[in-house]
Amino acid sequence: MYPDLNNKIAVVTGAGSGLGEGIARRFLEEGMKVVVNYHSDRSKLGACDLAAEFNANSDKPQAVAVQADCSTEEGAAKLYQAAIDNFGDLDVWVNNAGIESRYETHELPLEVWDKTIQVNLTGVFLGSREALKHFIKKGKPGNIINMSSVHEKIPWPTFAAYTASKGGVKLFTQTIALEYASRNIRANCIAPGAIETPINAEKFADPAAREQTQSMIPADRIGKVNDISEAAAWLASDQSNYMTGQSLIIDGGMTLYPSFERGDG
Ligand code: NAD
Repeated sequence: MYPDLNNKIAVVTGAGSGLGEGIARRFLEEGMKVVVNYHSDRSKLGACDLAAEFNANSDKPQAVAVQADCSTEEGAAKLYQAAIDNFGDLDVWVNNAGIESRYETHELPLEVWDKTIQVNLTGVFLGSREALKHFIKKGKPGNIINMSSVHEKIPWPTFAAYTASKGGVKLFTQTIALEYASRNIRANCIAPGAIETPINAEKFADPAAREQTQSMIPADRIGKVNDISEAAAWLASDQSNYMTGQSLIIDGGMTLYPSFERGDG
């Protein structure tokens, strides 16, 4: 537990499923107040159920589920406003929402490229901008956590838009970390490896595909949501307050060149 997180206020994008939902839950367990963003009908239930679960335990709402497309200016502004209207302030903004789709690059439609960059990279910029404006206006410390991926560094054939967006998130995060460090505003990435969530549920339902992915992970297991949400709580807390501009890679060793494992290289 991180006592300094109690009553801090966060926005978590794409929090109706998977990692975002896990991070929002972990924050709520710390006593934080959370704007739980969802986008689609599919994720609405996860967000609304989570908010209802925590609001049942407190006299004042601890969580609010808010529909918004965080990849638009209006959507990002709506999420910021929800934090102010419901909780009166903002301390932590987690840009988690993301999408991926598989195409050979010579057949990748422009609309798919544009949409992936829009959600995964422009959405991170728009959320960060809302948070930065608030922290600067209030002259207060601030904390931005961006969800990148091991594919901020590992190339991934047939996922060119995804890797381009995540590489962009990494350098964008480093840039704002440097730009605002003297104002006590931190920005870091979490870079997960393969974590079991709805984004890869279809793939991991196929035992051969699951085995193939697992064979690339020295720890010999697919990651779980709480492997990531624990790190998010630490990054949000003051325990990590000397860390900025970094990517916390959480991947069971996937980025350690597993083919060298037996020293035969
Ligand atoms: P997920 O599909 O469960 O979560 C993504 C969420 O983003 C969904 O709830 C979706 O509704 C939401 N979303 C999509 N577009 C949105 C928009 N425009 N506005 C608001 N919300 C939107 O999958 P996940 O694994 O939890 O993914 C979360 C993040 O983690 C993504 O950025 C993903 O790239 C990243 N990631 C996941 C893995 C993994 O193995 N699961 C690995 C590395 C990185």
